[in-house]
Amino acid sequence: MCYKLRREEKKLKRKAVLVSIDGLGDRPIHELGARTPLEAAVTPTLDAMASEGVVGLVDPYAPGIPCGTDVGHLCMLGYDPKEVYSGRGPIEAMGAGLEIFPGDVAFRCNFATVDNNGIVQDRRAGRINQGVTELAGILDNITLNENVIANFAPATEHRAVLVLRGVGLSPHVSDSDPGGKNEGMAIQPIRPLDATEAALKTARALEQYLAIARELLNQHPINKQRIMSGLLPANTILTRSGGIVTHCIPLKERFDGIRCAAVSGEITVQAIAKMTGMKTFIHPGITGSYDFNGQLKASAALELLHDNDLVLVHVKATDLAGHDGRWDAKKTIIEQIDKMVEGIKANSPPDTLIAITADHSTPCEVGEHSGDPVPVVIWGKGVRVDKQVTYGETSCSLGGLGRITGKDFFHILIDLMGFSKKLGA
Ligand SMILES: [Zn+2]
Repeated sequence: MCYKLRREEKKLKRKAVLVSIDGLGDRPIHELGARTPLEAAVTPTLDAMASEGVVGLVDPYAPGIPCGTDVGHLCMLGYDPKEVYSGRGPIEAMGAGLEIFPGDVAFRCNFATVDNNGIVQDRRAGRINQGVTELAGILDNITLNENVIANFAPATEHRAVLVLRGVGLSPHVSDSDPGGKNEGMAIQPIRPLDATEAALKTARALEQYLAIARELLNQHPINKQRIMSGLLPANTILTRSGGIVTHCIPLKERFDGIRCAAVSGEITVQAIAKMTGMKTFIHPGITGSYDFNGQLKASAALELLHDNDLVLVHVKATDLAGHDGRWDAKKTIIEQIDKMVEGIKANSPPDTLIAITADHSTPCEVGEHSGDPVPVVIWGKGVRVDKQVTYGETSCSLGGLGRITGKDFFHILIDLMGFSKKLGA
């Protein structure tokens, strides 16, 4: 009988909701009595989960290494960014809806304004936000020398993405974007950053593309109209953050057919979700800004749980508050997230696991991502309970999960869900 029970338990699979609170981790804040925003926030649901579950600290990649949102989420989903990530370009391209394939090289772009001497007058072309789709349309699907195809798509406001496709391309080329201040710097020529034929070929293709783009943009009626109206024309493209698209094995292939979905209002996280084979849930009411709709996110997650094993729910607002140094806002947002999690917890199918963590810390005193570890809690049936009774940076440092990496965290969650593969016979 006991033997049979054990056998059945081995086949047991559980669903899980993974809540990613962007930039959650913080440092003690004087005005909060030397507590972090999470520790100062009133969070009855998160604390109950800590009390009934297990907590710990997660270094998304490694101790003391700050991660971007893209890399932090890849780590949290058990990927090694060194294997699947080579720059921001491919993530942005995916977020903008461009189809990309392994070997493509993608760049982040700005529509910008340059004068006749190649001096950047405005890196954002007067923050152009009208006519961008038409301008992007004339720059898309251009065949270059050496059988390179260029695809181009608009992103948000003055931003866009460029994808070069061809045999033997490299991301190791310099940016045409001079960066720095918004004006007065010369547009930079594209240089190969190593001596490989691939870098040389990519630099040639990109230079040719940018010259064609300048010509097409200068002639375009939208820009002529902008000049007549006293607006800055979007007469050039600045490129940066080139990255090569690598093959990313989807989660369902890595973990026994696991079905995954993501709820996020932010393009970066939506792109990571697509890249890892998650279904993405997009709704105009679900945003990546301060006014995130927690109740809508909770109901979307619950709906997705019907047909999926793992649902990622992402909230960006905490990170924005960290960047803005607004510890009071961060505390309030965490309290709203507590209510969102309460809704998920109360209405999930029986035995659903809930894990809560973050992609990186964004301490209010820094206003940027830091290498501080992030708190984690895992709650649900089968979880070994530790002695911690609150969810906060300090209590998590004493928890049963100890101090682990993002990849460790995901493997632990996957194992609790019953989707792990045994090592050895
Ligand atoms: Zn982030």
